[in-house]
Amino acid sequence: MRPAIELPAVCPLDCPDTCSLTVTVEDGRVAKVRGSRANPFTRGVICNKVTRYPELIHGPGRLTRPLRRAGPKGQGRFAEISWDEALDAIHGAFSGTIRRHGPQAIAPLNYAGPHGQLALGSMDMRFFNRLGASKLNRAALCGGVRSEAYVGTFGAVPALKPDTIVQAQLIVVWGFNVSVSGLHLMPLINQARKRGARIVVVDPRRTKVAEQADLHIPVKPGTDVILAFAVAAELERSGGLDRAFIAQHVAGAEEYLARARSRSSEDAAAACGIPVEQIRRLAEWYQAANPAAICCGNGLERNRNGGSGLRAIFALPALAGKFGAAGGGVANGSSFAFPKTTAKLQGERFAPAGTRTLNIVDIGRHLLDRTLAPPIAGLFVYNHNPLIVHPDQNTLRKGLLREDLFTVVCELSHTDTVDYADIVLPAASDFEHGDVFTAYGQHYLQRSRPVIAPVGEALPNTEIFRRLARRFGFTEPEFAATDEQLMDDALDAGDARMQGVKPSAMQPDRPLPMEFGGEDAVLFKSVFPKTPSGKVELRSAYLDEKYGAALPDYVPVPAEHPLILVSPSSDERTTSTFGGLSASDSAWLDMHPRDAAVRGLKDGAWVRLWNALGEVHLPLRVTDEVRPGVVCSLKGAWMRTSDNGQTVAALVPTHKADLCGGACFNDTFVDVEAWARPGA
Ligand code: SF4
Repeated sequence: MRPAIELPAVCPLDCPDTCSLTVTVEDGRVAKVRGSRANPFTRGVICNKVTRYPELIHGPGRLTRPLRRAGPKGQGRFAEISWDEALDAIHGAFSGTIRRHGPQAIAPLNYAGPHGQLALGSMDMRFFNRLGASKLNRAALCGGVRSEAYVGTFGAVPALKPDTIVQAQLIVVWGFNVSVSGLHLMPLINQARKRGARIVVVDPRRTKVAEQADLHIPVKPGTDVILAFAVAAELERSGGLDRAFIAQHVAGAEEYLARARSRSSEDAAAACGIPVEQIRRLAEWYQAANPAAICCGNGLERNRNGGSGLRAIFALPALAGKFGAAGGGVANGSSFAFPKTTAKLQGERFAPAGTRTLNIVDIGRHLLDRTLAPPIAGLFVYNHNPLIVHPDQNTLRKGLLREDLFTVVCELSHTDTVDYADIVLPAASDFEHGDVFTAYGQHYLQRSRPVIAPVGEALPNTEIFRRLARRFGFTEPEFAATDEQLMDDALDAGDARMQGVKPSAMQPDRPLPMEFGGEDAVLFKSVFPKTPSGKVELRSAYLDEKYGAALPDYVPVPAEHPLILVSPSSDERTTSTFGGLSASDSAWLDMHPRDAAVRGLKDGAWVRLWNALGEVHLPLRVTDEVRPGVVCSLKGAWMRTSDNGQTVAALVPTHKADLCGGACFNDTFVDVEAWARPGA
């Protein structure tokens, strides 16, 4: 047995924080994962679930050999084959599809399981672009609404560096369960509190951060735009607008304010399901505090008014003149902090002009659409567990069961989606290959190296698609690029932020801070709007042209059932990652005591929740942590938690948000009743 060693790594998961890690390797295996202090933002603290990585990598659910289906679709029966046989099968099937229907009949179905630039989208995207496969609007599943709302308002410019919120006098945590979905903001919020800052939390659930807040506003899901408009109207009434800043730096303020004041605060409060005093208090505190920071989460984009909600919130610091100071403004992701060169990395030049783009939210429907021309006849699923993650699970399952659909699933673990594959490819984990990591919740660029050799016959995505490119005869030099060359294609080494360092030459335990003229990103100090007008655009030319949405607006949403089901992040899983481990596979439904009493439901009882799309059975937890009218079940639980092959995703509609065609997970209306468990 070789002696244990400790090696630096980076957490690859779909989480804004992108922690630096220390991995203990014993005898060539990952034995332990803990936080490292290399990244100044994450400072040695990680979440519990990531300590379960050793089981994910070496446990019984790990895929280690290529497989071919050896039974009916959906039953998960497979026989081991060699890599050559697997790649030949894919080449043969996809070539036949291209002959019959053209290349757009092949669709990648990938999302964001790993977040390193190479694993997330590099050689794979070059391959699909060169093949001429259908493109995928994958941002619609999550993040796209927020990104579009932000770009429409401020342009592609970094938001506030989150580390600086310690300097704020007021922090508004809006739709963001910080202790689960952005862990490292929590100590910053606590530090700010110790320095006298007030904390306001806007969330239909009383989350941990809400419990500690000075004010918790339990807004009804989907009404954030009304709340933000009402706060703006209160600011105007009380003289809280910064007229000089607006005149110089804000476009569309008058039109925005006309909408904001069209509803009284009392009416707004009634629509949001909150006391009017809460709106007035938030406006009063926001007006008085300097600097004041707003931290938005992803939850509030997941409804039909989601883009408008975000835009209405983003308008508040512009109207109240909160920009220009560290700790002031909006901490809303950090994707634009990094000099990414995504088009080069992903070989966008190879994509044939006019290639169609499919919305990821609609893939289930497209698979069953006999009028779709060309049909989807070849599907390549990777970095993704769509059966658990996508809205309208039952439709997607029907699509995956199509006998004439050739499906490849490339995965680390035997997920529920793997059961529907014709060919399964074993993917290397992020500890088995090197990568370069930007982040969407902090401003440090990181590089990793492999800490163990690939387990079994697993291969990194880059090598899988290099081999596939060779099979398909793609001879352009981009398809022979090494991982190091791909890293250097991911970011512009000539940008001042890179300080002359090539991404591939970075040291794994030396994160590179993204700075702007030697300073942290602060809008209207070190960075400035990149909109067409150069101003903060409350009336957005970009969003008007793309979505016909010049200004944020509220469109009433019909309620087909009396309860709104929200399905936010769990601290056991990252979306569905880890869901196959026994420590991470619980599922239940939270309901307010008032709603439970009306239905005669008791804590611990089993309930049936349903709508037109499906039916799910869950144990009930009666708690006032959720507001009346809202029920909550955490997303990402695998089918092993279900007795009827349906999880909460089965109830989620495929409605679209007002921007980006975004998924509306929180526009899910259900009814709930007692359910007698067979045999119980
Ligand atoms: S999931 Fe997030 S908080 Fe947990 S270790 Fe990874 S980056 Fe850190």
